[in-house]
Amino acid sequence: MSVQIPTQVIDCQNFVSGKFQKGSGLKSDIISPYTGKKIGEFHNSTADDVQTAVAAAKSAQKEWAEVPMKERTKVMFNLRQILMRDLDEISHLKSSESGKSFNEGRAGLLKGIEVLEFAIALQNMDLGGKSEVSRGVTCEYRREPLGVIANITPFNFPAMVPMWTIPISLTLGNAYVWKPSEKTPLTSMKIAAALKEAGLPDGLFQVLQGGKETVEAIIDHKDVKAVGFVGSTKVAQAVYERATRQGKRALALGGAKNHIVLLPDANPELSGIGISDSFTGCAGQRCMAAAVLLAVGNVDKHIQKIVERASSLVLGKDMGAIITKSQVEFLNKAINQAEKEGATILLDGRKAKAPAGMEEGHWIGPTILDHVNPQSDVAKIELFGPVLSIVRCHDISEAMKIENNVEYGNACSVFTSSGNLAEKVVRMASTGMVGVNVGVPVPREPFSFGGVNASKFGHGDITGHQSLDFWSNVKKVTVKWEKQEDNNWMS
Ligand code: NAD
Repeated sequence: MSVQIPTQVIDCQNFVSGKFQKGSGLKSDIISPYTGKKIGEFHNSTADDVQTAVAAAKSAQKEWAEVPMKERTKVMFNLRQILMRDLDEISHLKSSESGKSFNEGRAGLLKGIEVLEFAIALQNMDLGGKSEVSRGVTCEYRREPLGVIANITPFNFPAMVPMWTIPISLTLGNAYVWKPSEKTPLTSMKIAAALKEAGLPDGLFQVLQGGKETVEAIIDHKDVKAVGFVGSTKVAQAVYERATRQGKRALALGGAKNHIVLLPDANPELSGIGISDSFTGCAGQRCMAAAVLLAVGNVDKHIQKIVERASSLVLGKDMGAIITKSQVEFLNKAINQAEKEGATILLDGRKAKAPAGMEEGHWIGPTILDHVNPQSDVAKIELFGPVLSIVRCHDISEAMKIENNVEYGNACSVFTSSGNLAEKVVRMASTGMVGVNVGVPVPREPFSFGGVNASKFGHGDITGHQSLDFWSNVKKVTVKWEKQEDNNWMS
């Protein structure tokens, strides 16, 4: 299905205390990557707007903390029904603003709903634990909310990334302050409306539109107890340092440069599909996309399959658009540079034709560069576009040396038919997530998502089981009761 782009400019607003309202700062435009045209606008949130939103969240959270988890979960259950009902409508909107294909938009929201299902299941888990540690003395772990927590999210997953944290942290009893990407803020209005309809009390979910200044005012607010961030490495590090300097807990997920190790014994058909889909999915604008193919030995027939599949994709239908015009220019420049440095171009996306009627949009086709120097920029820096750089290697050790040398640490995959060689790569990979015969090794719930090195600042994970300790406090309660001898009154 083609993405339905809004035909009228949408007035994108903050959501504070259950009401949509404009921010007090300057106006910004929202541009659709498909058409290059304005589809919305919003007013940036000032420090005063942040103050109002956090104060209301703090007051609402006090009551929410007293609501039993089973009751909080009812809201999440309603939310699931509403999001499923509105799945297509939200998918069109989020794809319009982020450049995803309709199917990718839908898949992203469904993945977010998996996290929601995990949060719904929390009510049935033992989240604490209690035991008798000596005669008459018990120790207990009791999980308590943090209070007001904040999340700052990137443009590329306008619903999925926020949904990593919204259901879990609300179910654990927190109030949630969200600063969506200024490039893709429209989806936030749909999620806010869905939570209100689901019955979430006002003030527990506050959305503040804006950019850097809004983020800084949120981090600096004394009542914001924890900060979750997903975005580029440079900003992740700055956000992490700013929050932790103030004694707050922070978890900041950054950028990536993911490798796929392709061995000659891999199934050519399956590896062709897996690798092509990995670097072209979301037009390469996802932190789990394949960026470097470490081709070990003679894998020419596999590479042929990758080229065939990637070249069959139709722009605007199978593969979406690039977020900004300047990002298209950045990608073109990187490809030009690699060509100058001697890379062979197996597939050239620079001259790709825009879909009819979308000539002003931000387009580039899948691009495959072969014989890339592992020290060159295209092999080392995050491009965030549909560009696959192939580095030829003699053996697995050489391949893993290259992989280990990159500053990021999100994902690495291997394609092989040997369990033994797969295990070798799994052990040697310097990443938080590893795949075997999987091009995009995103863990499914209840497993946590997260990288290492420059792909994540902070300890723990933002989703899944590991996230529970981040989004709550564990209180340790030790109890001793004197033995009651005279308890005849009980009989
Ligand atoms: P970005 O870092 O430009 O923006 C992310 C968020 O930070 C936005 O909400 C933005 O408004 C805010 N921001 C931007 N500059 C800021 C500053 N100086 N101070 C404070 N806040 C600031 O990222 P993006 O371009 O929106 O997203 C793409 C990046 O996100 C890529 O690097 C990608 O790899 C990464 N990403 C990582 C993951 C992951 O799980 N590791 C997931 C998705 C995206």
